[in-house]
Order: sequence, then structure tokens, then C-alpha cells
Amino acid sequence: MHTGISHSLDFDRDGKTLSHLSIPFSIDRSPYFQIKVPICLMRNGEGTSLLLMAGNHGDEYEGELCLAKLVRRLDPARVRGRVTILPMANVPAVMAAKRCSPLDGGNLNRAFPGDPSGTPTSRLANFLETDLFPRHDIVFDIHSGGTSMEHLPTALVERNADPERHRRGVELMRALCMPYGFVADNGQASPTSMGAARRAGAIGVSGEFGGGGTATVDTMAITARAIDNLLIALGLVDGPVVGAESMHSMPTRLLSLSRHSQGLYAARRGWFEPAVRVGDSVNAGQLAGWYHDLERLDLAEEALHFAENGIVLSRRLHTMCEAGDCLMQVAEPVET
Ligand SMILES: [Zn+2]
Repeated sequence: MHTGISHSLDFDRDGKTLSHLSIPFSIDRSPYFQIKVPICLMRNGEGTSLLLMAGNHGDEYEGELCLAKLVRRLDPARVRGRVTILPMANVPAVMAAKRCSPLDGGNLNRAFPGDPSGTPTSRLANFLETDLFPRHDIVFDIHSGGTSMEHLPTALVERNADPERHRRGVELMRALCMPYGFVADNGQASPTSMGAARRAGAIGVSGEFGGGGTATVDTMAITARAIDNLLIALGLVDGPVVGAESMHSMPTRLLSLSRHSQGLYAARRGWFEPAVRVGDSVNAGQLAGWYHDLERLDLAEEALHFAENGIVLSRRLHTMCEAGDCLMQVAEPVET
């Protein structure tokens, strides 16, 4: 009663089921409190099963808003197969507008495989990896940079040791029609949703669809298009549901992020002024920006330089930085 996760879902029932996953967690205000994670099933007969999730990090809104729209707009009669929608997976983080859960500090995307008798975030991770993900052929987890980061719109898969499953993952990533994509190599024990999906026998697809803890016209459009394109590519629906139009012709440029030297890090407290924009092509040795010390007005600002060639993938949005903060990342284009 005090551990695990409970629900009353029937995954073989046709039609639309809007329900909750319940995570018991006793708190001051409510001794028998349950965290209620919204979940929606849309099933119409046998076929491909797709899990769409957002709110893995609470302050990444494009996926949360697009999946909320999908819950309202998708008619199960249009579906061939099963679509499961988890629009705000780590719901305490979503309600607090934070990356991590305020109840336990848990970062869901570093919590897999989790523990059925652990903290709420750890229990959720364990349920996803051992129960929900194995019920699906494909898991699509929608991220964006969050409050502190601007990110190039980039689809992502993690490397799969099985060549055929890896090929299918890259194929589906390309089907999203995002401008960029990359293959991450986080190892078999990866604590991410993509590692969990792989261990669960599902094909995982993810990506960063915006950033800055907001939603814009452009980032909402690419997210809606990616969701529609994936639903169509899997044969689950025959036309767009959340976006204005689907697109099947835009190529995805592959990028690689494989070395710590591709990141520019703060080594002390300071205020960072960028010299380049996200999406710019840069060279090793090129000026990345200036590091100011507002407590030492007698000192000139320090010039910071990139260590690697590539395309600026992300930028820290909070100007004030502490030692250890990542200021920028540069990804290397992969010629295919
Ligand atoms: Zn995220």
C-alpha cells in the first residue's frame, strides 16, 4: 500500500480511457496522499503500440502542451493499434515548473531503472521501465532545454547494440523531420528514458524540441509536426492530428556529441556574455564569449574560446553562472 504504483487500466480495451497512475506518498497535508499521474489510452484493435510522453522534466512545455492537445483531439476511431499518452510524467515537477520533483528532488531522466520501494520519482522510473515501456513497440519521450537552456531543435536516439533495432530507431528519428538529430552513446546502464526503453525491448526516440521554459509559435509547430509524423510513419493514423500539416521531405542533419571537450564549462562564479548564437558554425579557438566578474569591476572580462569545431547546440540562458555550469555545447556534424 505504501510502495509501488497502482492503476486500473486495461491495455486491451478498445476506445479512449483517461485515467491516472497513483503513487502513494504520505505528506504533512495528507497522510494517505497519492501522486496522480494522468495517462490516456487510445486503442482500436491490434497493431503498433506507441507511448508518447512529456513532462519527464517539468519545465519543458512543448511536449506537455502538444500531448494535452492530442488527448483532446485524437479520436480512437481514427487509430489503428494503440497510443498511450503520458503528458506530464513527473507531475510534481510539472506543477512546480521545475526540472526535478520538489517532493524528492528526483530527476526522472536520471532515475532509471528506479526502485519499486524507493522515492516517488524512483518508483515511477521503475514502473515505466518494467511495466509500461515493455507494453509498447515505440517510446517517444519529448524534451526541450528547460528553464536554464536554449537548445537547437534536435531529435535524439541512443545507440542500440542490435543493428536492426538501431536502424529502425534512426529511421523513425528521421521521420520526425527535425532539422537536426543525434545518436547518443550512453551505455547499456544509461539512467535515461532511452536506456530504459532499450532495456524494456522498445525502440526509443527522443529529442529537444525547444527551450527556455516557454513555448513559442515555432517550437510548438515543430513538436506538433514531429508527433504527427511519427503517428503517420507508424501507420497509427492517416493524417495530422495536432499540427497544421505533416511533412515527410525535410532531411535531418546528423550531429555527434561524444567528448567532454565539446562543452564549455564555468570554473568559477561569473556572468557569461555569448559571442555566438545557437546554430552558428564555429571553429576550435574561436571566441565563444566573455566571462565577467561583477564583483571585480577593476578586472577586464575574460575571453572564452571553443576547444572544438562544430555547430553550437545549446547555450545556458541564465547569465549568472557557478563553477560546473555548462555555458555552451558544440556538436560535430556527421557526414553520412
Ligand atoms: Zn528534459
